[in-house]
Amino acid sequence: MNSLMTSLRRGRFPSLAVKLPEYQMCAQCIMDTTDPEILFDAAGVCNHCHRYHAVVAADTMRGAEGRAALESTASRIRADGKGKRYDCIIGLSGGVDSSYVAYLTRELGLRPLAIHLDNGWNSEIAARNIENVVKRLNIDLQTEVLDWAEFRSLQVAFLRASTPDCEIPTDHAITAVLYRAAIAHGVRYILNGVNLVTEQMMPRSWSYGHFDWRYVQSVARTHGDRPLRTFPHYTAFEHEVRFPFWNRIKEVLPLNYIDYNKAEVTAVIERELGWRSYGSKHHESIYTRFTQTWLLPHKFGVDKRRAHVSCLINSGQLTREQGLAELARPALDERQFEIDRSFVIKKLALTPNEFAAIEAAPIRSFWDYESYAASRPFWWEGLAWRGARLLQDKPSAARNAAASQVAPGLGKP
Ligand SMILES: [Zn+2]
Repeated sequence: MNSLMTSLRRGRFPSLAVKLPEYQMCAQCIMDTTDPEILFDAAGVCNHCHRYHAVVAADTMRGAEGRAALESTASRIRADGKGKRYDCIIGLSGGVDSSYVAYLTRELGLRPLAIHLDNGWNSEIAARNIENVVKRLNIDLQTEVLDWAEFRSLQVAFLRASTPDCEIPTDHAITAVLYRAAIAHGVRYILNGVNLVTEQMMPRSWSYGHFDWRYVQSVARTHGDRPLRTFPHYTAFEHEVRFPFWNRIKEVLPLNYIDYNKAEVTAVIERELGWRSYGSKHHESIYTRFTQTWLLPHKFGVDKRRAHVSCLINSGQLTREQGLAELARPALDERQFEIDRSFVIKKLALTPNEFAAIEAAPIRSFWDYESYAASRPFWWEGLAWRGARLLQDKPSAARNAAASQVAPGLGKP
């Protein structure tokens, strides 16, 4: 049985593969039908490209105009923060974007408090980057450590939930601790490292729910082994009403006001802050590195590099050919992958068999759980998903085979 599974996983029995919609890749970027919700226009250009250009045109500013907008926002932040110890809150993961935001705050004469969420998965390089950034910029750092027993249970619950959203607990907690810190210190601005030019193209089917507390709770209730008592969270009401109107907290996205070029930004933080690269995007966390290079490609046929690279193509930082070449490279070297996999299994206190069962379980979507999205007016989309699943539910090994056919070389161990 095991060898059959392995063969399926490697795509040796293509006739057993679940029927995917006909394979298509966007003519402009490299997004493809591994996003089941992708749409193409008559010229073969995908909906993500269309949305990318619309959002970048509407919500980003470049050159002198962007700089002026950023300066004027900074002077408002300085004025509102007079007499307070800090005038803004920043999140610091040790990655490129958050480190650069820290650098920008000092350039703009702001007095930030940096918050780091320690979910137990930091790589050593990330920890050193954080230390270097706050030391060189003389920024106060507050580290929020998650209760490990509770967080472990939640992470395992998301793995058992069998949706590709395994990073949602961390994303949700980060936003929660930033707001919590802003309220505690009476600060009205959160400077967020979200960067539309390089992060706009992640499809909902690959990652849903960073703001959806109802979804997180539903997964924890269904698959977790303990209640969430201390896990930092916020409701939709808090995010949409209480934080902006009662606490009057604004989120500012400074990276959308500069001519963001990843290579240049990286060079600045390496030179000025002693920052060191940890490989690819979001690999500052061992768990993220593992899920992005192994679990998502193998179980779900999802390679998030596709979305990252597609952003760089659309912003003119890579050609489509360079993007394809980037994707053809292995996501991680083989030795590191083996180390990460054993580390993850051990740290989550799972047995190899339990983990194999997680990998082989049929794929689910957030539509299979309670969520804000499942409430009206989106309920009909959930019904459509469940209907499609009933007609076409296959163990993920079959999906893996199909995925490895359409995306050769993905996440090979
Ligand atoms: Zn596209």
